[in-house]
Amino acid sequence: MEELMQATPAPPPTPGTHAIAVPVSSRPVRGSQRHTTLSSRISGGPLENHYRLKQFHFHWGAVNEWGSEHTVDDHVYPAELHLVHWNAVKYQNYTEAVMGEDGLAVVGVFLKLGAHHEALQKLVAVLPDIKHKDARAALGPFQPSCLLPACRDYWTYPGSLTTPPLSESVTWIIHKKPTEVAQDQLAAFRSLTFSALGEEEKTMVNNYRPLQPLMKREVRSSFQPLKMTATPWQHRDWD
Ligand SMILES: [Zn+2]
Repeated sequence: MEELMQATPAPPPTPGTHAIAVPVSSRPVRGSQRHTTLSSRISGGPLENHYRLKQFHFHWGAVNEWGSEHTVDDHVYPAELHLVHWNAVKYQNYTEAVMGEDGLAVVGVFLKLGAHHEALQKLVAVLPDIKHKDARAALGPFQPSCLLPACRDYWTYPGSLTTPPLSESVTWIIHKKPTEVAQDQLAAFRSLTFSALGEEEKTMVNNYRPLQPLMKREVRSSFQPLKMTATPWQHRDWD
């Protein structure tokens, strides 16, 4: 995990615009004696192939009452983490996978107001450095799996990206249990802006896509008491 990046929002501030993203390199940093980047991948569960982590990012609201892109029984969380993986068995690269069948697998994790999250703090600590548009900051080694809840129960359904090109290439894997984060950690995300340095500041909040109709998509769960139709999936980080 090399750096935390504030992506260029175009056009700002469209709901659903990815606000900040942490790109992941699968190769070691040149000149480095050791792997300072990580190649994480997932397999199992609803996935027929191994999927490689490309990046992860967050969506959040202006207040704690909203922010997540998924809801559970009408409950909305203040934020949602997306870990975007691509099918490295079926496709040559991420760009091909985005447009292709079974190309992407996005792991979603709800963030809930609660205890301070120590591992997330490493990321939160550099947010002031990327307050403005196009800013980048070094993050150093980071284990994305530390952001997952201990409980691995999930829902899964075939769907689309929530940002353009909105392609229907995504297997969504949504964790049932949220990850707890502190109020001041959420506040750090809300202190980011859509604006470039020197421009009038436009706070970066509500960067989620509104709920979409389920259409005829089947949502399956890995756990009881709902029908058990999915098998456990695995996540592991590579060093
Ligand atoms: Zn997202």
